[in-house]
Amino acid sequence: YGDPSQKVDYVFKVVLIGDSAVGKSQILARFARDEFSLDSKATIGVEFQTRTMVIQHKSVKAQIWDTAGQERYRAVTSAYYRGAVGAMLVYDITKRQTFDHIPRWLEELRGHADKNIVIILIGNKCDLEDQRAVSTEDAKEFAEKEGLFFLETSALNATNVESAFVTVLTEIFNIVN
Ligand code: GDP
Ligand code: MG
Repeated sequence: YGDPSQKVDYVFKVVLIGDSAVGKSQILARFARDEFSLDSKATIGVEFQTRTMVIQHKSVKAQIWDTAGQERYRAVTSAYYRGAVGAMLVYDITKRQTFDHIPRWLEELRGHADKNIVIILIGNKCDLEDQRAVSTEDAKEFAEKEGLFFLETSALNATNVESAFVTVLTEIFNIVN
């Protein structure tokens, strides 16, 4: 139960999904430990990491789940989605294919997760502007059509990583309160 002096009011499970190598593990490393690695190995083992934040004077523990290299279509099991109240759907702005696969991930998410799950679409690696293959407008339009929050992030230079989590956690907080 960790430090007993730190009272936790809520625990929210949030899942990271999206194609391999889009930066899911580095987004999590940036959020949970403020770390980044350019040669991150394919994720193995660790199921989730946590970070506790204060939202509207309440202590909210975010339990963020990362796929353990199960990014092939339909390989992520329903146990992964079970109990999730938030999802971060990640693509790489420099790899068009990872954006084109987003509807599949969304379909899978909607098939397995709670229907009220809060979803944010994340275009990661926005530090690589010169290699951009997905326009901000296309992604924004898709997100609006599907009712998703949307942000472009960089795990490398930390742009919007905190904001992405705060957006999801605050929305979940507002739904349960
Ligand atoms: P995952 O398979 O989705 O978990 O992807 P990883 O987090 O392992 O990242 C895949 C590769 O992309 C690694 O070499 C990371 O260092 C790199 N990467 C992740 N996020 C960023 C980012 O925001 N900018 C850049 N330039 N590279 C990134
Ligand atoms: Mg990974």
